[in-house]
This record gives sequence, C-alpha cells and structure tokens, in this order.
Amino acid sequence: MDLKVIDHATCTFCGCVCDDIQLHADEERIHQAKKACVLGKAWFLNHTAERKYPDALIDGKEATVDEAIAAAAEHLYQADMPLVYGMSNTTCEAQRECVEMADHLGALLDSHTSL
Ligand code: SF4
Repeated sequence: MDLKVIDHATCTFCGCVCDDIQLHADEERIHQAKKACVLGKAWFLNHTAERKYPDALIDGKEATVDEAIAAAAEHLYQADMPLVYGMSNTTCEAQRECVEMADHLGALLDSHTSL
C-alpha cells in the first residue's frame, strides 16, 4: 500500500497547534501521525473520510441538530453548576460562542487540556 506523506501538518486538537506533524495517509484514513503526542495521534488516526455517526444524538438516539441544541439548552438551563467543557477541534468562532455562553450561564469554563 502506497501512503501519501504530508509534512508539517497542523494538529488542532488541544489548542497547542503543533505544526510539525508528519502524516502518512491513503484515500480513506491516516495511518501514522509522527511527532504527534498521544492525544494528537488518537485524533488523527481515528478520523476517516467515511461518515460514521449521525449529525446529533440524544441519549444515544439519532436526532436533528436543532433537537440536540434544544436538549442541550434545556440541560444547561436546568443545571445548578453548569460546566462548558471541551472545545478541542473547534474553531475560534465556536470557542468565542462557548465563552459567551459560559458568561451568560455563570458557568465554569474549561478545556479538555485540564486532563
Ligand atoms: S494534541 Fe498533541 S500534537 Fe495535537 S496540538 Fe496538542 S500537543 Fe500538539
């Protein structure tokens, strides 16, 4: 199997934005992510071109994005101690929205890097 080698790929998983990753990939998936940390390797190697999941799930069942947003809003509204968490692999604009939402809710804001 011939793999395409991509030098200086950027990992956007945790926010450190390492830009010296070497990827080895075919048309379907990435097989190696040299110089990536364990989080970056997991991120690169577990994403494929195939569509594996529906756009949204509620309690493990397929839902529309609008239904998922409504469910998430209800959970956040009902929460005694809301936490806005994650934000890896998201755009700056989406992170900005998360910060605004956390401010609005009086929520704790954290990224997965605290792990
Ligand atoms: S997850 Fe690892 S490889 Fe990716 S940006 Fe963060 S530190 Fe770099």
